[in-house]
Amino acid sequence: MAETLEHEVKIAANLARVEELIAAACARVGRARREVTLVAVTKQRSADQIAAAWRCGVRHLGENRVEEAELKAPQLASRWEAEPPAWHLIGHLQSRKARTAVELFDTIESVDSLRLATRLDRFAAEAGRRLPVLLEVNVSGEETKYGWAATRTAEIEALVEDARRLAELTSLDVRGLMTMAPLVTDAEQTRPVFRAVRELRDLLRREASFTTWDELSMGMTNDYPVAIEEGATLVRIGRAIFEGQ
Ligand SMILES: *Cc1c(COP(=O)(O)O)cnc(C)c1O
Repeated sequence: MAETLEHEVKIAANLARVEELIAAACARVGRARREVTLVAVTKQRSADQIAAAWRCGVRHLGENRVEEAELKAPQLASRWEAEPPAWHLIGHLQSRKARTAVELFDTIESVDSLRLATRLDRFAAEAGRRLPVLLEVNVSGEETKYGWAATRTAEIEALVEDARRLAELTSLDVRGLMTMAPLVTDAEQTRPVFRAVRELRDLLRREASFTTWDELSMGMTNDYPVAIEEGATLVRIGRAIFEGQ
């Protein structure tokens, strides 16, 4: 318990700093703080750390691996009292783990192919739920990244085509786009990437009448203020919350 309290004191201070920067970024561009949801990324954090973050008011948690979430969920189930958090899957999902992911996660942010989406739609239908998802896009042309490549015109056309088919999957609720910016030393360098993702979201809305595609999940510890200035509605923050910086 003493250890948990120690976590809580540290996380509360870190969160206060993160909140300050989120509010400042919103203010710079005339956005309301409530337009941005903070997702605390809990990969590699202990159950005690995660419970401490929850006690500090965090209600959205992000994990990047199904196996890890599967181990943690039961350890944490008794600690949420009446207010369980929403779990977001933010890492690459293998097809064979799609069923478990549908059971464990509230939102899947890392849908990166039509094939995976089709499987998720089937499992969500079997579970009798409509699953909120985001489409992961890669606009920086980095080969190592997952997600729909969306740099060249032909790639964007293919994404629009896939998006139209995704809209027909009745158990998936596509809410928008997710991206991971390249690692750079100066956060300002990520701005064109975030801007391109926002423009892509706007284009998909127009081209396929996806008027409900409101979400943009972008921005991590290194670059979330820039992402918020460029329209992020979800920021996924790990280190700044659990380590502080
Ligand atoms: C780890 C991770 C984050 C958070 O990164 P930090 O640098 O710890 O803030 C965000 N998104 C994804 C997909 C991640 O894997």
